[in-house]
Amino acid sequence: MPATPSALRSDNSLTSTGGLRCIIVLPPRNDTEARVEEAWGVPFSDGVDFEGQHFSLPEGCSVRAAAQWLEPSLLSVTISISASVVAPCARCLKDAPLAISEDLMYLYYLRGLEFGKDTELESDEGFMPVEIDFFGRTLDLAPQVWESLLLLLPSKVLCREDCAGLCPRCGADLNEGPCSCKGEEGDPRFEVLRGLAFGEES
Ligand SMILES: [Zn+2]
Ligand SMILES: [Zn+2]
Repeated sequence: MPATPSALRSDNSLTSTGGLRCIIVLPPRNDTEARVEEAWGVPFSDGVDFEGQHFSLPEGCSVRAAAQWLEPSLLSVTISISASVVAPCARCLKDAPLAISEDLMYLYYLRGLEFGKDTELESDEGFMPVEIDFFGRTLDLAPQVWESLLLLLPSKVLCREDCAGLCPRCGADLNEGPCSCKGEEGDPRFEVLRGLAFGEES
């Protein structure tokens, strides 16, 4: 299922496409039969920083796009993203691999076109509208490729559903078994208070 515009988590992060260019050559604007496809391998060698998390893409990102005119001022573009992503687990901080693979659908329309007037389009909630000033012979899909990738990155990464995380007291990885803190008296949340009490005694 394609992501919807409401899934957008931050518009600010979408402004920089980092020199990314994904140019597709469009069919003639009056040809609604023709469908053009293009594919790119994007290295993303520095990874992607998004919402306070760093995502590595050791094998880069594979991008495919298909474009077709619905009307002379309305272009449908499907962007398919697939990548192996590595990010630290939110609980144990170990690198957790995850695979993303999804198609996102965009509708490019000419500024001034009353978008949404057409009831058929209105019902198609899976499309993300993109208003543009003019249609040339080619179109750079980079902003939408970048946006698609960010949309598909998870807001919280877990190495596995039931990751036990780190002990809040000694920092041991509880996935490897219980730490020596276990069984000791006291709630780790009172550690700070106890520390203060010791401070008074000394
Ligand atoms: Zn974990
Ligand atoms: Zn512990």
